[in-house]
Formats: sequence, structure tokens, C-alpha cells
Amino acid sequence: MSDIHEFLQERKERELLRRLRPAELRKGGRIIFDGCEYFDFSSNDYLGLSDNPYMKDASVKAIEKYGTGASASRLLSGDLRLHHVLEEKTALFKRRESAIVFNSGYQANIGIIGSLCKKNDAVFLDKLSHASIIDGAALSGVKFFRFRHNDIDHLEALLKKERDKYKNCLIITETVFSMEGDRAPIKELIEIKEKFGCSIMADEAHATGIYGERGSGILEEDDISGSVDFVMGTFSKALGSFGAYLACSKEVKEYLVNVCRSFIYSTALPPGVIMANLASLELVAKEPHRRKHLLENTRYFRNELTNLGFDVRGNTQIVPVILKDSHRAVRYSDALREKNFWVLPIRTPTVPEKEARLRFSVTYNHDREILYNLVNTLKGLGGVLDS
Ligand SMILES: *Cc1c(COP(=O)(O)O)cnc(C)c1O
Repeated sequence: MSDIHEFLQERKERELLRRLRPAELRKGGRIIFDGCEYFDFSSNDYLGLSDNPYMKDASVKAIEKYGTGASASRLLSGDLRLHHVLEEKTALFKRRESAIVFNSGYQANIGIIGSLCKKNDAVFLDKLSHASIIDGAALSGVKFFRFRHNDIDHLEALLKKERDKYKNCLIITETVFSMEGDRAPIKELIEIKEKFGCSIMADEAHATGIYGERGSGILEEDDISGSVDFVMGTFSKALGSFGAYLACSKEVKEYLVNVCRSFIYSTALPPGVIMANLASLELVAKEPHRRKHLLENTRYFRNELTNLGFDVRGNTQIVPVILKDSHRAVRYSDALREKNFWVLPIRTPTVPEKEARLRFSVTYNHDREILYNLVNTLKGLGGVLDS
């Protein structure tokens, strides 16, 4: 147990100790801590749906009718018609034959990867993949290789060297990367997977609800949904609720229901959550102005920051501003907090020390005036904090 104490001590000394910060309330793009209200630039509630009246109403009605808990796993008595309706609607949304719902994106990734890959198989993942993807690959016990972020040449070199040693190879990427705010070169990845006879899985956690004509994600926007074998995504970010999905073939779904441990050995999502997820899919279809408004705000904010000379990464609603060391990132974050903007510094070990950053998540709730004020505040801080 002495290791625990030393670990905490060391993290504290390096100013890297992670702490929970309970808020009193989070609503309408704002967050309240100790009676103080902030504009929340750290949430993934991109479409502002997490306190949407239509979704809340759907959820409350489901709770009144079915109760609060699902009472058991899907394979016991936790499986309601509602879960299947959500899976059918999700399959339609993602234009795939079938879909299977998971209790969270983390559970989805750790379960799916291990189920799809067996001894003699290998996984190739982007170096910046989400922890759930890395953990899924590690837990599955298969050999895995990490290619440099969005680097097709590196992936190709790895496959040339390694492909023949394994039976099945699975390439995994996110379509929008959570720390870089950029997109995967998905068309090139598909060419590579075809060239080397691999399968590909895409994680649309940060893209679902936002990109594409119907808002189903980057694969729709790039018009390549059908070429990706396994499409995972969540209901917990832009869709403002909770849970995750894999869009796949009927056969893959049937297989996962039989072998995927994170699906089998966990209580089903409660009815209130399932109904909220269904309502969110309806809203994405009925209210495209939400994603249009979000993307317009994103463009505005990115342009303004670039014009001010900040090192801005990516091209999505996630806007990382590289500040080059942790202390500087913390100073900016503290100074913005004083001006009522809630944005957290991202430091090592999440990103390399030299790439410490502020990560702004633009949402539907941030109107032009808020963004304008934030830009002006940042402009003022540059002079004070960096001199
Ligand atoms: C957030 C996230 C997950 C996990 O989803 P949860 O529903 O929050 O567990 C998985 N993959 C990516 C890329 C994510 O950003």
C-alpha cells in the first residue's frame, strides 16, 4: 500500500494529480461550481441535447411505465422490446443491416475487439486511439501494432512486414480524434484494408449526430459507410444521453450476443436511457439546424484563434490549442476560469508534455456572443501570460 502514497505524492509534486470537481448543476452549456457560473467548454454535449425537453419527457415517460432499472442483463430478463427498437433505428441511422447496443462506449470497445480477434490475429491501431480501444486490444491478448497518427505510409509499412504472419487483421481508427480534433483519412484506410485483406473498425464517438447530411457521422459525410466493416459510436456525446452501439451485419450481431463478455455480463441499459436515445435519434433527423449551427460556430472560433496566432489543431468541433508546456496550459486555464470560461488543460500522460494544450469543445449552446467574448479574453491573456 505504500506505493499508493508515493504515487500520489509524486503526482502532486509534478502538479499532475487528477481531481474530481463536483458541479452543482450543468445546463444549457453552463456549469455551476461553488455558486459560480461558467461557460462550459469541456463537455461533449455538442448538440446541447443533454437537457432537451423532448428527450427528458421521453425518458420520464419510460421511467413511469417501466421503472428505473432494467433489472438484469439482456440475456436474462433485462431485454425489453425497447432495446430492439433502438437497435433497429440505429441500424437505419447508420445504414447498416443491424446494430447492437452496449452500456457504454468503453464497454463496447473492450468487448468488441476481443470478440472479433483471436489468437493468430492482429490489430493495427492509430497511436492516438482512445483508451477504450487500446484497452480492448490489450485485453484481447492479440498482437497489436500502433501506427503513427493518421500516417497511412506507416500503416502500410507495418502491414507489409506483419500481415502474412497473422490470419485476420483488424485496422481500428476513430473518425474524429478526441484530443487532436482532426479526422481520419478514412478513404485511404479503406484502400489499405482492401489491399492487404484486412477488416476495419471505425469509432464515431465524436462524429455521431454531427457530420453527414443526416447527421450519422463522418462515414456518411465521406459516403463510405458500406466499406467499413464495423462502425461503433456512442449515445453519450452529441446525442446527449448514454450508451453505445455497433452497426454491423446480422451475423456479427448474433455472434457478439453469444460471445461478447461486456455485453453478456452487464445489466441492460435502463428504459429511461433507451427512450432518451430513441428521442435523440429523432431530434437529429428533425433538427439539422443544430449541427449546422454547431459547425458554423466551430468555423468562426477556429478562424478567430488562428488569426490571433494560436497553434490550433484539427478541423472539427473539438478545438485543441497547443500551449507547449503544462504550466502554461494551467495558467491559461486558470485565467480563463477567472473570466467564467470552463476549459481544462490537457497534460501528460494524456498528451506528450510539449503538446500540453487547452481543449475547447464548441457546442450548439455557445452562441456567437459567447465565442466572441472568449476570443477577446484569449487575446487579452496572450499579452499578460506570455510576457
Ligand atoms: C468517449 C469515447 C468512448 C467511450 O464512450 P463512453 O460512452 O463515454 O464510455 C469511446 N471511444 C471514443 C473515441 C471516445 O471518445
